[in-house]
Amino acid sequence: MSMNLGVTDRLKPLLEQVATMVRDEISPLDEEFLAEVAKGNRWEFTPRQTEILEGLKAKARSKNLWNFWLTDSEKGYGLNTVEYAYLAEEMGKAHLGAETFNCSAPDTGNMEVLTRYGNPDQQKQWLDPLLDGKIRSAYLMTEPGEASSDATNISMSCVRDGDEYVLNGEKWWSSGAGDPRCAIYIVMVKSPSDSRTKHQQHSMILVPADTKGVEKIRAMEVYGHDDAPHGHFHIRFNDVRVPASNILLGEGRGFEIAQGRLGGGRIHHCMRAIGAAEKALELMCKRGLDRVAFGKPIVKLGGNFDIIANCRMEIEQARLLCLKAAWMMDKGDARAAAPWISMIKVVAPIMSLRVTDEAVQRFGAGGVSQDTPLGRQWTNLRTLRLADGPDAVHRMQVARAELKKHTQERV
Ligand SMILES: Cc1cc2nc3c(=O)[nH]c(=O)nc-3n(C[C@H](O)[C@H](O)[C@H](O)COP(=O)(O)OP(=O)(O)OC[C@H]3O[C@@H](n4cnc5c(N)ncnc54)[C@H](O)[C@@H]3O)c2cc1C
Repeated sequence: MSMNLGVTDRLKPLLEQVATMVRDEISPLDEEFLAEVAKGNRWEFTPRQTEILEGLKAKARSKNLWNFWLTDSEKGYGLNTVEYAYLAEEMGKAHLGAETFNCSAPDTGNMEVLTRYGNPDQQKQWLDPLLDGKIRSAYLMTEPGEASSDATNISMSCVRDGDEYVLNGEKWWSSGAGDPRCAIYIVMVKSPSDSRTKHQQHSMILVPADTKGVEKIRAMEVYGHDDAPHGHFHIRFNDVRVPASNILLGEGRGFEIAQGRLGGGRIHHCMRAIGAAEKALELMCKRGLDRVAFGKPIVKLGGNFDIIANCRMEIEQARLLCLKAAWMMDKGDARAAAPWISMIKVVAPIMSLRVTDEAVQRFGAGGVSQDTPLGRQWTNLRTLRLADGPDAVHRMQVARAELKKHTQERV
């Protein structure tokens, strides 16, 4: 398979449409949408929020700019991962960018799970409304009591009782669970068996958000922000009963699904982080040219030329790595693509965080305030060095793949 990392002919018109809509229609509404959160119940949409979001979604859908992310299924748009990377980058430039085109986290990863591993009934009930943008979803793996970067630690109990499973335990950082439209959780549970290996002790199971016994304890805060109305929830499961048919793929197959899910979800985050860096660099340059201190535009002071040049070079390096990882995914060998996804999962958030931090600095106090999107962007990017696996765990995967070239032993 030849390596084409460029913009293809079929992508070009789509990319132009998405970029224009993000710049001219979505970005201008971001701040108004977020300011609405302060009015009334933080975990319900105000009429104006619904109007903004549903209006943008309807517009995108009417132009058939929808569900680009589903790259290897006839239900999707027919693009490959490399092509999707360019679109996701544009979406990463606005807060409502991804959701407008039904390409947001954690739903793309969850829809991928349901597409690949759900049975026809599960797909009809949950995948179809997700693909339609009618409901949202959450992915519940991390637990407060366990080092969850090592997912073999996951301990939520799941016990079969007749035609049902009974779930007990706690999850936290369940992103999106605060959204009133979040109707379905994909939950990683422990369903142990002596007859299976260490990586076959866990399962994934579908739990409707309104099931009896699901208790939302609190919204976790990121540096003091609750990210309403999306939210990252701490949830307790008290004897939660779901039909046995809600299990995905079968008992003990949780890791198999997790590997499939996190590949796509992870790289989508990276693509958007590159777009966020582009946005930050643009703001940094414009501000530096406009604002004058010590008789000169700020860009001409101190080492600011070098900072701009370094940001440009780092963005370009990260984008190339991201496209290569996307191309590896398109080749269809998930095992071979895994270290590439890990590489970009380390590189993109760190790069984007650094570029955003420099942009914050160029804005002075305004950079950390609500008057630019940069403070919020910095906070989101900082969490990306933890979410979907901390940097150190991905570095471990990269190093293991490297050492495998030189030893038969698992190191
Ligand atoms: C904003 C946000 C949103 C999130 N959304 C979700 C979500 O929707 N669903 C979900 O299930 N989880 C979510 N998470 C949780 C996230 O995936 C976990 O925090 C992450 O996997 C790490 O698990 P942990 O917090 O238990 O850290 P731990 O496992 O306790 O690890 C802590 C630290 O230990 C060190 N460490 C661990 N392993 C190694 C290693 N191999 N080598 C060197 N050092 C190591 C690293 O410094 C690491 O950061 C989210 C987190 C945040 C902040």
